[in-house]
Amino acid sequence: MLEIKNLSVFYGRHRAAEDLSITVSQGEIVVILGANGAGKSTFLRAIAGITPYARGGFVSIEGNDISHLPPHEIVEAGIAFVPEGRGIFSDLTVKENLALGANPLRARKKQSENLKRVLKLFPKLAERKGQIVRTMSGGEQQMVAIGRAIMSSPYILMLDEPSLGLSPLLCKEVFQNLMKVREAGLGILLVEQNAKQSLAIADRAYLLENSRIIKEDLASILVDDPAVQKAYLGGNGDETGFKEKLV
Ligand code: ATP
Repeated sequence: MLEIKNLSVFYGRHRAAEDLSITVSQGEIVVILGANGAGKSTFLRAIAGITPYARGGFVSIEGNDISHLPPHEIVEAGIAFVPEGRGIFSDLTVKENLALGANPLRARKKQSENLKRVLKLFPKLAERKGQIVRTMSGGEQQMVAIGRAIMSSPYILMLDEPSLGLSPLLCKEVFQNLMKVREAGLGILLVEQNAKQSLAIADRAYLLENSRIIKEDLASILVDDPAVQKAYLGGNGDETGFKEKLV
């Protein structure tokens, strides 16, 4: 389990994350919803060890305290991060990108096992092993990014807006892929502006507003919450049966 307690980030005097506490277990999808500038990317980057956070902030994975460790040690501990823009090498092939994901020490020993796992999850990548990633569709590139992250043998996969810039059809494909990853037993922490599709696949969700968590609940409950419908789902807050309309 990934556990975060009281994590705060300051950019100068601006507090971009305020006392954030969440948990993510293996085998569940947790989504953090929030408007532009709410602090979603900041939060993920802090967990990944990229953005420093204030003293007192606590991060642990599988019971091991990994607070304030540098990014490569966070990956080594079992957290993989797919940043906005995917963080893949677009001039390299699918196979080369996947191999680079197996860099952590722990993952090197399990490289062939993890490769089998990725190709089983995403058979399309097996067919396209030699393809230069730049020439693939946005959805396929996101698949490479997720596959590459899985090659690091993580307990938890974190993704920053994986649906950004994709057509509705490709978005759907990405969210379906995340469900497959959950079935494989990984925990997923997802940051999204696409509330409709992310709530449809998530187990639990947190709402982030002005750097603070203002609400948390089961995704199946939040989807019917009038405030959530109004702020994130384009409703007027009095719909019923919204769930039925979800893809
Ligand atoms: P978006 O959905 O638009 O990406 P977000 O919820 O991910 O937004 P963040 O990118 O985390 O929001 O930004 C939170 C706040 O912190 C914003 O007001 C942003 O301008 C500010 N911010 C982010 N990075 C920095 C930085 N390196 N230096 C100063 N301020 C920053």
